[in-house]
Amino acid sequence: MNLPQEPCTWASPASLSWTQGYAALGEDFHTRVAAQALPSPFWVATSAGLARELGWPEDWATRSDWGSLACFSGGTPWPGMDPIATVYSGHQFGVWAGQLGDGRALLLGEVATPAGTSLELQLKGSGRTPYSRMGDGRAVLRSSIREFLCSEALHGLGIPTTRALAVVGSDLPVRRETVETGAVVTRVAPSFVRFGHFEHFAHHDMPEQLRSLADYVIERYYPACRDAANPYAALLEQVSVRTAELMAAWQAVGFCHGVMNTDNMSILGLTIDYGPFGFLDAFDPGHICNHSDHQGRYAYNRQPHIALWNLHALAQALLPLIGETDDALQALESYKTAFPQALEARMRAKLGLQQALPQDRQLTDELLRLMAQDRVDFTITFRRLGRFSTRAGADNTAVRDLFLDHAAFDAWAARYRERLAQEGCSDPERRARMDLVNPKYVLRNHLLEVAIRRSAAGEHDEVKRLLEVLERPYDEQPEHEAYAGFPPDWATSIEVSCSS
Ligand code: AMP
Ligand code: MG
Repeated sequence: MNLPQEPCTWASPASLSWTQGYAALGEDFHTRVAAQALPSPFWVATSAGLARELGWPEDWATRSDWGSLACFSGGTPWPGMDPIATVYSGHQFGVWAGQLGDGRALLLGEVATPAGTSLELQLKGSGRTPYSRMGDGRAVLRSSIREFLCSEALHGLGIPTTRALAVVGSDLPVRRETVETGAVVTRVAPSFVRFGHFEHFAHHDMPEQLRSLADYVIERYYPACRDAANPYAALLEQVSVRTAELMAAWQAVGFCHGVMNTDNMSILGLTIDYGPFGFLDAFDPGHICNHSDHQGRYAYNRQPHIALWNLHALAQALLPLIGETDDALQALESYKTAFPQALEARMRAKLGLQQALPQDRQLTDELLRLMAQDRVDFTITFRRLGRFSTRAGADNTAVRDLFLDHAAFDAWAARYRERLAQEGCSDPERRARMDLVNPKYVLRNHLLEVAIRRSAAGEHDEVKRLLEVLERPYDEQPEHEAYAGFPPDWATSIEVSCSS
């Protein structure tokens, strides 16, 4: 008989079990460097859900014997931690940028979880490293709250992402456009390896290191590739598929990353490096969330194309290992099948359709066209569509009134009603299914702005409340209705740039 097991919790940091993972690759891959502690640190927020997954006790952040604040502000590391900054390179805005690397991040180590997996812990904003170039090695409170909340929000949405365990604030002045204060985010992921890590060793003509890195990634994260005729081509194919699935997931919830440089692409297909991201409000397919992106390279509707561009850069880097160009190109082809398949499946689910029919694509495209034409709110439209009634004569005002062109919506709704009739399922059953894929709550910029402003004034409750709401984005939370409303007029004046 299988009895439910108590979640395992570790008694103290000293009892945690650390793995020599990335660090064991050797000195060509990283530099050992100590964090620079934030002065007078304080907790801004922590993720209880993630701490549970790590098997840490509920009061891990506040127990005096854990020394958590000192550790995650870059002060005293826990026993077993061995901080390193890793080196990578990459293409930024389509141009080779040369060597980059963890300029303000430190990998603390890789720790075992009760589930038998292991996760890397990383500080971001903990001071200069050999890869800081002109930067100060710091992160400001504003961008740290953005990264913390959005990591956990995407996780809540079921989208692959690096996680965030905590934000620690400080009174340390940090200069950006104005003087702000410094903070440190603790990020957590199975691995922080980026496309740019591979590009680094390929570009610098270090074939042995390139092979070690690929073998490490295959061994640890893509073990099935070991048995393929060409393991490196198989790796490229698997990464292409995961990236395709990630893009479909982003597009389906209206998430814009903002800086899809190759150094911001995870080899595990995780969302990584939250900067000037945004969720769509009024639907504009060409929406550019990053104020510094003047050409719109990373606009919402270009993300899937850019992901493939980035995969080509990865393929180029892996070519010395793969051998034949044709094998690399063939591996990339998998993206071209996996992405539309994944997106169509998600869009079908958003419309509440269970069977796949050839005309579904047209039905979806037509809805998106109308939504774009009338600039209706992306999230609210899909959520309200779940309440669409197929009853004869039902006017479906709640969703219909979002559109300016009522006649066009009615024509679409007639086809939608017909299509739903073919499925033959009840409205309440369809609604329940649609509510599981059409979130009610997304991390809109104006919600973040309010939380950041309050936090900067010393009140961190709003960050905590937003975290709570966004951990359950598909649930009706009547007490939090205000977080599901249309953005206020001032939201259009929010400008988010690369400054962080
Ligand atoms: P990002 O645009 O945030 O992905 O960063 C690109 C590169 O710049 C990475 O190598 C970062 O580590 C580095 N970087 C960004 N901001 C800073 C900073 N304030 N100090 C040092 N390095 C930074
Ligand atoms: Mg980055």
